[in-house]
Amino acid sequence: MTERETDNLRVQWLVERTVHRERSKFQEIAVVDTVEFGRMLLLDGIIQTSLRDEFVYHEMLAHVPLFLHPRPERVLVIGGGDGGTVREVLKHPEVRRVHLVEIDERVIAVSRQYLPELASSFDDPRVEIRIDDGIEYVKRHRNAYDVVLVDSSDPLGPAVGLFTSEFYGNVAEVLRKDGILAVQSESYIFSADLVQSVYRAIGEHFPSVFIYTANVPTYSVGPWTFTLGSKRFLDSVAPRRANGKLRTRYYTPEIHRAAFVLPRFVQELLSEQEDEAGTGTRGA
Ligand code: SAM
Repeated sequence: MTERETDNLRVQWLVERTVHRERSKFQEIAVVDTVEFGRMLLLDGIIQTSLRDEFVYHEMLAHVPLFLHPRPERVLVIGGGDGGTVREVLKHPEVRRVHLVEIDERVIAVSRQYLPELASSFDDPRVEIRIDDGIEYVKRHRNAYDVVLVDSSDPLGPAVGLFTSEFYGNVAEVLRKDGILAVQSESYIFSADLVQSVYRAIGEHFPSVFIYTANVPTYSVGPWTFTLGSKRFLDSVAPRRANGKLRTRYYTPEIHRAAFVLPRFVQELLSEQEDEAGTGTRGA
């Protein structure tokens, strides 16, 4: 299987078998077993997750914002139809309700059947699945969640609007006081412009904005960013609650702090952005 990263770079994966393939109303959904990275979910030929390193991505998207919030009781996950992010959110005993807003019900059905390691999280009674467009959903709800996680596919097709300032403005409204937003914001190697524009757009609606990173080799061969906005000004990015008995494979309080330490050229990307926007210093 060959995945297109850019016009000039393709990554090849040795596939043992194609487990499933179908065309939904929104996209082509495929599940394949690869030799090196195990089972993978693909949408329109783009890898969404692999069993080899999905825990890195899902733990970092969920635990960093959840440990920064004093009491995360109500959580909204937008996208995330494979179930990995919801699985991690549910590890927090403070969480009472998780709403998953996924546009494509077939991604959920396929994940339930072929990726139970992730999708069995949907059986937890705290979870409610709402099949809807996340962009429209946040326009219709107000002051309803403590944490919003955007686990979206790349900015193509139905996901384009999940990377806009207008959307982040509506997310700020859907969050309660002290609310925190975290989004997957692509690779700083291959998508530096997007990393800049997401940082800027979130900063238009949240007084504190930070980028943090993790290495997820399944995506664009490694470096991956997440962007976090907080409605309350954050003077520190250290976890605000103890880790307790929560079991993780990647996340630790030390990883949490270290993830906000950025390479110099990424810091420069963000300060260019701040200079242009005239917004002064923020996180990072
Ligand atoms: N971890 C993955 C990554 O970074 O590539 C994302 C995985 S998850 C499967 C992405 C999900 O976002 C897909 O199932 C897709 O259907 C969903 N999605 C895309 N646009 C959406 C929208 N506007 N509202 C809700 N869900 C959306």
